[in-house]
Amino acid sequence: MQIPWIDLENCISCGICISACPGVFRFNSKGKAECFESSGAPEKDIQSAIDACPVQCISWEND
Ligand code: SF4
Repeated sequence: MQIPWIDLENCISCGICISACPGVFRFNSKGKAECFESSGAPEKDIQSAIDACPVQCISWEND
């Protein structure tokens, strides 16, 4: 199974991924995006969020 992985060094906290998939991504205590539920949206919607990230810091990782 694939899960979205976020490179926190590069996340600029824009919130686009969270707006796109609020059931998958949220802000962590440091204001960076985190994936809290990898099955919280259809894979195609997660892919759209990945594609929309302005700094392309989200990628798929094998679980
Ligand atoms: S879209 Fe990218 S830069 Fe914006 S909050 Fe999500 S991971 Fe961070």
